[in-house]
Amino acid sequence: MEWCRWLPKIELHAHLNGSIRDSTLLELAKILDDKNVIVFSDVEHVVLKADRSLRECFTMFDLIHLLATDHKAIRRIAKEAVEDFAAENVIYLELRTTPKKNDSIGMTKRSYVEAVIAGIESVETVKVEFIPSDENTKKPIKTIPIIDSYEPKTKKIYVRLLLSIDRRETTAAALETVELASEMKDSGVIGIDLSGNPRIGDWFTVLPALNRAKELELPITLHCGEVPNKKEIQAMLEFCPQRIGHAVFLEDDEWKTLKSSYIPVEICLSSNVKTRCVPSYDDHHFIDLYNAKHPLVLCTDDPGMFSISLSREYYIAAKTFGLTKAQLHEMAMEAITYVFADHKVKKALEEIFKDSERKLT
Ligand code: 5GP
Repeated sequence: MEWCRWLPKIELHAHLNGSIRDSTLLELAKILDDKNVIVFSDVEHVVLKADRSLRECFTMFDLIHLLATDHKAIRRIAKEAVEDFAAENVIYLELRTTPKKNDSIGMTKRSYVEAVIAGIESVETVKVEFIPSDENTKKPIKTIPIIDSYEPKTKKIYVRLLLSIDRRETTAAALETVELASEMKDSGVIGIDLSGNPRIGDWFTVLPALNRAKELELPITLHCGEVPNKKEIQAMLEFCPQRIGHAVFLEDDEWKTLKSSYIPVEICLSSNVKTRCVPSYDDHHFIDLYNAKHPLVLCTDDPGMFSISLSREYYIAAKTFGLTKAQLHEMAMEAITYVFADHKVKKALEEIFKDSERKLT
């Protein structure tokens, strides 16, 4: 496990509000209890529950959004999420979040995203490379203590944002998110995600927004096949996004389409097992895709919600499927190909992996 923590890693599928520390959620709940908005004891056991079905996860997200969606809380959550990923030696993070609007507290989708950005920029435990073009505003490199001989003297994490469209949203609201992503391209926003309860909403409601994202040349990743829905899975694969997440409930013909399309899959082992979408790690489709040399990347999905880390996901993959350190390193490095960031960032990531490869032998 320690080795998996040392391994440089790329995280491409992590939801901001699924990455909240339990301790932070409980603190935020206490504040709302003091204001008589909620009763803390009603919330505490829900936050600390270990395993949740997919349905229960979405109930939990509604609670998280109640507890955590003001500008101050969002800044804090974004800061802590980046700190936590960096502590796991994640060197490139695409964090995704759904811009939220709440007139009662003066929150617009833009001000929500600005709060996320402010949080990311306030990280102090690691150097954050967030907006590459803006050299003048870059913070000085901060150093953190050297933990062992493998640790670089200065830790650095590249962070980019994906704006999520929630499947509950109207076409107009989804379009607003896409336009916002385009307007904020120079502020660290790099692409679009489609997520939200897979049992709610309709592909054709969000399709105009996703087509607009294509027109604007925003890379797209879709949550695909979390529940059996043949028509939608086929439509998503036909849409040909840059990446898909999960890909659990594909049937034989969809597997064929996926494999011939080479669409990279964001694999979320623990999320799929804990939400009971996949019966066990041994039964996970990861190994079929891995053996077929299909493009894939290990991800956490919601590390706070599931009490997991990306290092642990690598460890589980190694233990379950008998992967060697060299195979894990190769898989982690391969993820560079699927990041949405530009060539310059990819080159820098390659250097980090090449350096760590030398220390493998
Ligand atoms: P947020 O976008 O508020 O930062 O992160 C939480 C949101 O991400 C949830 O409300 C949900 O829309 C989405 N999300 C998180 N985990 C999952 C997942 O496993 N599947 C799907 N479809 N959506 C998810």
